[in-house]
Amino acid sequence: MDLPFGKELPQLDVLIVGAGLSGLTSGVKILAKEHSLNLKILDECSKPGGLLGTQGLRFVNKEQTEMINFMSQLNVTLRVREEDEGANLERCWDLDRGLLAAPVKFELRRYINMLDLRMKKYSSLRFRFRKRVPNMERHIRSNLFFEQSRKFMFNLVELFSGLPANEINFDEFMCLCSSCGGLSVIIDIYFKMPKSMMDVSCKKLLDTLIEKLHDIEILKNVKVVKVKHFKDYVEVTNSIGKPYTAQAVILAIPWERVNELQFEPPLPKQYFKPSAHKDRSKKLLTQFFMRYTKSHWVYQGYSGHFLSVEPFVVGYENQPTEYSGYMMHSPDESNSVRETVLEMLAENFGEEMQNPLEYQEQTMELNTTLSSPQTKPWLRVIWSGSSTVATKNRNLMGGAVESGIRAAVSALYVVRPQVVSWRDLQEVQDRKLYEGISLSRVSALLSRINLYNFTFYSVFVIGLVFLLNFGYGQSA
Ligand SMILES: Cc1cc2nc3c(=O)[nH]c(=O)nc-3n(C[C@H](O)[C@H](O)[C@H](O)COP(=O)(O)OP(=O)(O)OC[C@H]3O[C@@H](n4cnc5c(N)ncnc54)[C@H](O)[C@@H]3O)c2cc1C
Repeated sequence: MDLPFGKELPQLDVLIVGAGLSGLTSGVKILAKEHSLNLKILDECSKPGGLLGTQGLRFVNKEQTEMINFMSQLNVTLRVREEDEGANLERCWDLDRGLLAAPVKFELRRYINMLDLRMKKYSSLRFRFRKRVPNMERHIRSNLFFEQSRKFMFNLVELFSGLPANEINFDEFMCLCSSCGGLSVIIDIYFKMPKSMMDVSCKKLLDTLIEKLHDIEILKNVKVVKVKHFKDYVEVTNSIGKPYTAQAVILAIPWERVNELQFEPPLPKQYFKPSAHKDRSKKLLTQFFMRYTKSHWVYQGYSGHFLSVEPFVVGYENQPTEYSGYMMHSPDESNSVRETVLEMLAENFGEEMQNPLEYQEQTMELNTTLSSPQTKPWLRVIWSGSSTVATKNRNLMGGAVESGIRAAVSALYVVRPQVVSWRDLQEVQDRKLYEGISLSRVSALLSRINLYNFTFYSVFVIGLVFLLNFGYGQSA
């Protein structure tokens, strides 16, 4: 492609669009390699951090090696939790309650095992679009019998892929899960948070990243709308028409947001993925944080670990007396999140939960993941972001760090190739992909028992026998 020559001298060496975990990681990595570079970061929000949020905890499994190494370079402690911490306290989950709790959990476990066993065939890099593959809503409905387990799975699909279950097909969802080590891992990270995982404070992580970047400007409330690629630099324009020029630009934003940008010359075909989901009504995610005088949940005999399937709310103890979590909701419910969450917590943990000493919330759109990772830059425009580029731990923090480091190395390759070592290149090689799980024979066998089919065929056979009996009785 022939690019036009620009008339200006670029103001910056590297411009990073998006101050989420991936954008900030790129900034730290670039400065660590070459401190003299002129860098700037832009974000459309009023606070940096993106999906990371500013409060609460994030959970890291051992497979997120990029994240673990990066945290040790930053001197941020990943807390390994004590085995007996809160061991006698119960969790407070919708799924544990009622007469149907046991069969609901049984069929959910069976379904999750079944998907995990099939995961080996799927790869995040392939992201195949086979025709005649059911969407996840149909797949869930035809494999799960109880409404409670279906709703749990619908929430999980939407939380993780950013798309409602009827807009992502089975193959796409499986490719996405395979890039994170399987569905059980996702469930552990987003819902169960087992003791085998490490945790990290979002605030501590964000403060450390910003501290490392104290020499460079992070501009907030700047929404990028246009990217103009010249032969020797890139011009990025914000929503009020202010241009920023740089030798290389890292777009550390979700792919659906890349698709909204105006590119000049137009983005080459290999990058352009027309979205069939432009007009869908998006769900929002509000992360909340509360501080109390005491941990009221502990006084009720609970560990604070909370899950409601409808409305979809997840909560956990951040530290004794601090409580965090998130709620997925439609845009018109945004103003009532606080009321809904506090009421639900009060119902379960006591009326005192209604009156926190401090309450904070942050609402955001979930990132949509519906394409193969975009690992190849477009000359001086480099893609980044956990949902956009990561090949491993996609849509997780490990993916954000992996893509941030990869983007930093690509940008350095454009502006200061002499500082890029073979070690840096080795670090950003495509990662070993998920190899699948192995289950015991019994679990594998159990995972094949489909309660939905079992009930459907039992009712059918009983009905048929009844009709035949009835017909025979009439004719006799
Ligand atoms: C509730 C929740 C819990 C999670 N828990 C865990 C966990 O326990 N463990 C784990 O590993 N992962 C977890 N994750 C996932 C992890 O937080 C994310 O994968 C990671 O933070 C994504 O970072 P990112 O930089 O790729 O994207 P983002 O955080 O989405 O950053 C993108 C940034 O770009 C900005 N932007 C977008 N468009 C523009 C534009 N046009 N102009 C300027 N700026 C723009 C946005 O404002 C945003 O700040 C969780 C996610 C959520 C939502």
